[in-house]
Amino acid sequence: MAEKTDSPPGAQRFIPPDADTIDELRAASSGCQGCELYRDATQTVFGRGDESARVVLVGEQPGDMEDQKGLPFVGPAGRLLRRAVDDAGLDPRLLYLSNAVKHFRFELRGKRRIHQTPDQVHITACRPWLVAEFARLRPEIVVVLGATAAKALLGPSFRVTKQRGELLPWPASAHRPEDFTQVPVDSAGKLADAPPARLLATIHPSAVLRADDQDKAYEGLVADLTVAARALPG
Ligand code: SF4
Repeated sequence: MAEKTDSPPGAQRFIPPDADTIDELRAASSGCQGCELYRDATQTVFGRGDESARVVLVGEQPGDMEDQKGLPFVGPAGRLLRRAVDDAGLDPRLLYLSNAVKHFRFELRGKRRIHQTPDQVHITACRPWLVAEFARLRPEIVVVLGATAAKALLGPSFRVTKQRGELLPWPASAHRPEDFTQVPVDSAGKLADAPPARLLATIHPSAVLRADDQDKAYEGLVADLTVAARALPG
């Protein structure tokens, strides 16, 4: 079982400053010890998708199956998300899928590993990976899936239930937008303004699986993703 600590060193010192590509970031993330979650999880689960992806979806953390396979969104919630993406008319080839926290946080009950929501301390520790991913991806649309991703990207006061489905300016809406306003343009460290983008928050697909009325919750997720699909330029 993961033990708690109030002062993890954070992921920043594990991110190579000269990492130009998502693949280089992914390779470096396998050695991250930025908080205690690496100790009990099987492996780091970094984002996946093409470097030229136009839409970045950010969820909470890998689940049990993702932890074993080393890939995000391959469990039941991921399957539901893929169906919702299809139904919303988003081309899956345009997507990059990631999580706010990149190790599985769980509690052992007998032999079962029960998901535990990451604390703010884990979200803060892992945020530098997310910032680094955004700097390389420069998405046109950002989709925040659920409260943990919203805390990481939009700050603790953002309420997904109140503002879901609404297109917001990105990175202006970000918590600490200055983390996302500059992107590297070459390996010499030259920076430029990030292209303006839009952000949309919606529920996490696992919330659909837990809902009393799953059909209604699913329709709501698809409706929100459809807003994102229609906002994609060209
Ligand atoms: S959860 Fe994030 S910060 Fe913590 S060890 Fe894993 S990759 Fe590093």
